[in-house]
Amino acid sequence: MFQNSFQARTTAVKVRFGAGSRTSAADEIRELGCSRALILSTPHQSGDAMQMAELIGDLAGGIYTKATMHTPVSVTEDALQHVDSIQADCLVSLGGGSTIGLGKAIAYRTGLPQVVIPTTYAGSEATPILGQTENGVKTTVSHPSIQPEVIIYDAELVSTLPVPMTVTSALNAMAHAAEALYSQTRNPISTMLAAEGLKAFKNALPRVLETPDDLDARGETLYGAWLCGTVLGQVGMALHHKLCHTLGGTLDLPHAETHSIILPHAIAFNARAVPEQLQPVCDIFGGTDAGQALYDFALSLNAPTALKDLGVSEADLDRAAELAATNPYWNPQPVEEAAIRALLQTAWAGSPPLR
Ligand code: NAD
Repeated sequence: MFQNSFQARTTAVKVRFGAGSRTSAADEIRELGCSRALILSTPHQSGDAMQMAELIGDLAGGIYTKATMHTPVSVTEDALQHVDSIQADCLVSLGGGSTIGLGKAIAYRTGLPQVVIPTTYAGSEATPILGQTENGVKTTVSHPSIQPEVIIYDAELVSTLPVPMTVTSALNAMAHAAEALYSQTRNPISTMLAAEGLKAFKNALPRVLETPDDLDARGETLYGAWLCGTVLGQVGMALHHKLCHTLGGTLDLPHAETHSIILPHAIAFNARAVPEQLQPVCDIFGGTDAGQALYDFALSLNAPTALKDLGVSEADLDRAAELAATNPYWNPQPVEEAAIRALLQTAWAGSPPLR
């Protein structure tokens, strides 16, 4: 279906791809004209951060390993003291969305360039968007200084991601692509990238589940993550992302699991309004209903499917539905409280999505 009117915005980002490509980090730092990198990670990945410091040798000015989920401003302020004390001139973020979020928060405040080495599929590395939390409130800002300059996708690093996290992180990435297909600001290129990203996960995820250290399959999933993250950075999202943001914020739910559970339901809801735009999902995953196709794919991966398994109560759903319907935003299908409450009930039970 040709789209005959659109606007597009692309960003200049250097991407290195390949198993073992993290060894190019020193070259990338030099190419940026930098010589004192602050390496960032979560406490869990501090060993990887130390190895990175060894790898880049003299270019490593220091390591900061306190990156935290939801990018608390207090952690960013603490990290900024390290930036000052070692006089860092660039950042190397090694990890998932939490570590990348910290790097972005520092770059936003200092203008320092970022070399990002993702180890999950969340896709934050490919966007100029920063979500950060202060006094329990998560706010989002978009700015060119937030967009990392260099991304290194190394399949060896993602091969350590445990299988359950692999599945939920991949579904989190796929959600960016699924919503990009009907985005109000989509363009022919974002639609192509989204479909190609979904295809990469459809092809490679079953192989990763069979052999988690299959570097070819891991590489293909990282390729999918890049494409899905890129469309997240280029076009606006709708119901799925807003609903996950509301649920995550009000009920403190885990990010990737929430995306995994909600995705088929949000897509089935919007397929009522825009089935043609979601046709690529049916073409890639089979069947005639995009939401059901994603639900079946999630089941085949043993993904979590029920909000109740995350500790959500039915009473929580009333509040979430009310909030989701009162914050106005664009969505192809009108967002009405009763319909969202019904969607959430189905997602809570883990039943197939409503048509
Ligand atoms: P995460 O970064 O919080 O990682 C979860 C845990 O897994 C951490 O302990 C981490 O150290 C560990 N881990 C990561 N990679 C690993 C690996 N290969 N092997 C073993 N352990 C590994 O999780 P995430 O889902 O990548 O990121 C979620 C965060 O990213 C959320 O805060 C979300 O809002 C944000 N996000 C932001 C954007 C954006 O564009 N701003 C996009 C997507 C996600």
